[in-house]
Amino acid sequence: MGQMIPKKTISVEHNWLKELAMSFTDPASLLRYLSLNPEDFLKDSQARQLFPMRVPRHFASLMRKGDPHDPLLRQVLPLRDEFTQAPGFTSDPLDEHDTELPGLLHKYQSRVLLIVRGGCAVNCRYCFRRHFPYADNAASRKQFVQSLDYLRTTPEVNEVILSGGDPLMAKDSHLAWLADEIAGISHIRRLRIHTRLPVVLPARLDTEFFDWFASSPLQRILVLHINHASEVSDELKARLVRLREAGVTLLNQAVLLKGVNDSGQAQVALSEALFEAGILPYYLHMLDKVGGASHFYLDDETARAIMAEVIKRLPGFLVPKLVREIGGQPGKTPVDLQLHP
Ligand SMILES: *Cc1c(COP(=O)(O)O)cnc(C)c1O
Ligand code: SF4
Repeated sequence: MGQMIPKKTISVEHNWLKELAMSFTDPASLLRYLSLNPEDFLKDSQARQLFPMRVPRHFASLMRKGDPHDPLLRQVLPLRDEFTQAPGFTSDPLDEHDTELPGLLHKYQSRVLLIVRGGCAVNCRYCFRRHFPYADNAASRKQFVQSLDYLRTTPEVNEVILSGGDPLMAKDSHLAWLADEIAGISHIRRLRIHTRLPVVLPARLDTEFFDWFASSPLQRILVLHINHASEVSDELKARLVRLREAGVTLLNQAVLLKGVNDSGQAQVALSEALFEAGILPYYLHMLDKVGGASHFYLDDETARAIMAEVIKRLPGFLVPKLVREIGGQPGKTPVDLQLHP
């Protein structure tokens, strides 16, 4: 009878950790895999000293072979442009390094961010984290107990956002414990996860993850970070079906990036691909002005022109909110979409 069991139902424990360990960390090997000549990128590769390269194989498999301008490759490949020092681009654009409790950020009235884990499965070159890799060190259990006490005594908070780095880098046993404690606080209604991990490594959405997240009594929201239609793979879609069936709301946030998704066409294709996977576009972020990422920057006028085309071509529910993060504001700040010809 053994041969009757479809292979996929045999649970392979922590498969995603094995996949993660096999990620590309050397630009030359990624370039060879993509049929590109590493010799052509020798000067670029030095930028990995500024921020290490890290690319899971699944994400690399979605890139076009032989295309140095592939929009997925551009997000992760170290480039010599990162050495450019542009005015206004700093190491801490959001000034986010003073919190009342380590591992907890309560900037917005009704929701709190729990910083679950410092590390990420992929290193995105445009990320403000490039200057604070946080060495993968998670807050201690004692610090989480303090954060949970804070939540219990702060009734205006009704939503907890698990963030990082990437919170899904943490062990499911730890996340399950946290989710359980949070569900026990009567004024908390929603549990939200912000993650890019399933996009670069869909195997992360495994049985152990479903066991605690899909079954939590809280309203559950998964916010993915997808910048380009090609990132919506069949494997990701297949795994998201189960989450939707369990009543999880799926949203996406993207960053507007030069050379990656800076056209009306690319944004329309992204929104269409997201909806096909059951994900609604939520935010489109203007790039944080972080040092080493100025080559990804687009100004407001360009962003407005792109949004004008998106609005013309898509129903309202597929148009993301164009926002920027301004330190000290009570929420994300919408970008004025009025065209100034
Ligand atoms: C973006 C963000 C949130 C969530 O904001 P929403 O508008 O609710 O998505 C919460 N805390 C911090 C620090 C944020 O940057
Ligand atoms: S996954 Fe998110 S936090 Fe991590 S490097 Fe990419 S953009 Fe930054």
